[in-house]
Amino acid sequence: MSAYHCELAWLGDDRPAADVLVEVDGDRITSVRFGVTATPAGATRLPGLTLPGFANAHSHAFHRALRGRTQDGHGSFWTWREQMYDVAATLDPDAYFRLARATYGEMALAGISAVGEFHYLHHGPGGVPFAEPNAMADAVVAAAGEAGIRITLLDTCYLRGGPDTALHPVQQRFSDGSAEAWAARAECLRDGPGVRVGAAVHSVRAVEPDAIAVVAAWARERAVPLHAHVSEQPVENEQVVNAHGATPVGVLAAAGAIDARFTAVHATHVTDQDIGLLGAARCNVCLCPTTERDLADGIGPASALAMAGVRLAVGSDSHAVIDLLEEARAVELDERLATHERGHHDPATLLRIATEHGHACLGWPDAGRIQPGALADLTTVALDSARTAGTRADDALAGAVFAASAADVRHVVVGGRIAVRDGRHLAIDIADELREVLA
Ligand SMILES: [Zn+2]
Repeated sequence: MSAYHCELAWLGDDRPAADVLVEVDGDRITSVRFGVTATPAGATRLPGLTLPGFANAHSHAFHRALRGRTQDGHGSFWTWREQMYDVAATLDPDAYFRLARATYGEMALAGISAVGEFHYLHHGPGGVPFAEPNAMADAVVAAAGEAGIRITLLDTCYLRGGPDTALHPVQQRFSDGSAEAWAARAECLRDGPGVRVGAAVHSVRAVEPDAIAVVAAWARERAVPLHAHVSEQPVENEQVVNAHGATPVGVLAAAGAIDARFTAVHATHVTDQDIGLLGAARCNVCLCPTTERDLADGIGPASALAMAGVRLAVGSDSHAVIDLLEEARAVELDERLATHERGHHDPATLLRIATEHGHACLGWPDAGRIQPGALADLTTVALDSARTAGTRADDALAGAVFAASAADVRHVVVGGRIAVRDGRHLAIDIADELREVLA
């Protein structure tokens, strides 16, 4: 048993509650009481605003190695991708484990309690399998465990360079050769403590419709999450429409991929009809605003998606920055830039996007809320930093989501275990680790 006495805690309403005592047994919250003015003996006092742990719904851990090295100069998504392939070409399971552990450690420091790893770097150079075919997946799963966060391993099917385009030499490392071979390998992956296995279709560019149907059936039979990159780039839409006579969402729907377990990642350039399809099926859309701005992708139609019935989540994707508060506020602020209007998504909605919705689309419907029975994930944001000092209790949700940053996260509990105390990761010196693996 442990207990946390929160100065302020967000229990799902438009305003935070004061003096909240959260009791935990094992990995679950057992009781939540507010108006508890004195810290009970044995309880940990958490000054600031305590939120449910954040869910980073879309990650490629190895892209962390690109930070600061690809941001300058000209180009587009497509020129950035060449630089990303240079990194992918160098990784083996040991190197990937070290890079992923440091990256997930940075996530823990940022208040993230679960990550969706969209994992496609499966094989060795030339596409030759490692002795253990899932060695790279095992590396990222082990890395999340050591960093103290949960992981949904979204094992990704990736088969071609594009409609009528062969695999690029680096892309051979991503491919199992066929959807059936992908399924045979994915079949060997297992859930475990803090680990859930889901599936992904890299994109409609990279997987033909018949193969998408195989992956979708695999996910449906197991009732696990299915994710896909969708309409990130206008060129992707053109290629898919030319090859298949339908948009990426249309192709995915025809292949049986679209239902409430499906998450479309990006959905930047979707049509009104696509939005209707995604909303009617109660799909999720994971926006990745800091990556989308870095790669000059564009601004997705967040409000239209939400109004159609889509559940929005966010992810740090290429890890240009790892800051879920920044991703959440960008959902609102980018839409202001695009529409010249303010007030599309209120602070509680933005926090729900960064917490409950993200966990749900990763297959953790029992996380993302501070309530009895939920997984005990608590992320405490300081309200006394240079960025947040002076925030009034009633305005604390807006203060956190519009002004705080990952650097203001002070205390993180994941599944009942403390991962971060006083802004320091308890198991790993993250900055040292990153300096070493990125040298
Ligand atoms: Zn991605």
